[in-house]
Amino acid sequence: MGGEPTHLFQQAREYILQRQNPAVTESMDPSHSPKLAEVDSLTIHTIVNDEIDQISPSPHPGVKHAQSFMGAPLTSLPGGTQRGGSSKEMRMDTICCGAHGLSLLITATKDGKSHSLLFDTGPEEAVWERNVTRLGLDAGVIERIVLSHWHRDHSGGMLSAVRMIEAAKKSSLGEHADSNKVVVDLHPDRPNFRGILAHEPISLEADPTFAEVEEAGAVVFKSDEAHTMLEDTFLVSGSIPRHTAYETGIRGGIRFTSDEQWVQDELIMEERLVMCNLKGKGLVVFTGCSHAGIVNVSRHAVELGAGVPLYSLVGGYHLADGSAEKLEQSMRDLKTLAPKVLMPGHCTGWRFKVRLEMEMPGCMAPLFGGTKYELISDDSL
Ligand SMILES: [Zn+2]
Ligand SMILES: [Zn+2]
Repeated sequence: MGGEPTHLFQQAREYILQRQNPAVTESMDPSHSPKLAEVDSLTIHTIVNDEIDQISPSPHPGVKHAQSFMGAPLTSLPGGTQRGGSSKEMRMDTICCGAHGLSLLITATKDGKSHSLLFDTGPEEAVWERNVTRLGLDAGVIERIVLSHWHRDHSGGMLSAVRMIEAAKKSSLGEHADSNKVVVDLHPDRPNFRGILAHEPISLEADPTFAEVEEAGAVVFKSDEAHTMLEDTFLVSGSIPRHTAYETGIRGGIRFTSDEQWVQDELIMEERLVMCNLKGKGLVVFTGCSHAGIVNVSRHAVELGAGVPLYSLVGGYHLADGSAEKLEQSMRDLKTLAPKVLMPGHCTGWRFKVRLEMEMPGCMAPLFGGTKYELISDDSL
């Protein structure tokens, strides 16, 4: 009985905090059906990804990004420097670092108005902070953070992200920053710990708690159902239904329960996708780790998209450790779904990327850390 009043008090406090924030009330309205608006353009800054590549050109006409180091910010030389006419230098300490995890800053623009959402926050605070600083991004533009699932390689930079966003908002909005706090959209089913069963249970670090996210300065919004946000420019799913026989989650996955037991947890059922509807193209689907399976993720996006065709799949396809058979089956079903632009990153693994290039030539534009991608909505491409 002792814990109950506290729990109720916390719920009430959370509700009041959520109602005070105009960015949240939109999602809380039960009559607000999750229907996506068409957006005119989409840009994706890859803040954290396992691999970086500053050199390769874009292999897809529908995806624009810099090549040959031209995306790296230049640093001004001190005034009066004589270096044969150079006024700037490209420094190696302005290039982003790769890290095991994912964090994407997605900006959707409709009728000249932009909304920015941070999808996942990478594995550690220092990496998120370092890469955002190196990219020269204004964290204050981020209105929402959506966590794809409770795994530390996606949640580890969360508190740093919230603190940097709030600091940037305070410096630009002053006292008005308090009524515009960043909203962190989380699935309520947060495990105390996740782990892998090897010779003994191996625990991961705990994900940030709801209280820690609030203490860092955000408003927490919990949801396990599909909903839209930011004037319907983004949709977050609920749990992703599992239909394929071969997409079975993480072998050996476990979670530590409140009664101090490790129990089997291979499916990561709280995993969610985020998607946008790019004008003239179709659904652009963002997936964190695809523990649900990239085919289940794609099929669910199509279900939620109410007739809008699947255009792009961006993020981790989690096939790095997949069996040859699973890679084969995933490829077969992905071809049937016929996405036009594949942007695999994070846990996809090089074997599946090689295969995509061979079997779906011209479709892939792999995701790399520190790169800014523009998805072109021009109908001619
Ligand atoms: Zn994961
Ligand atoms: Zn991951």
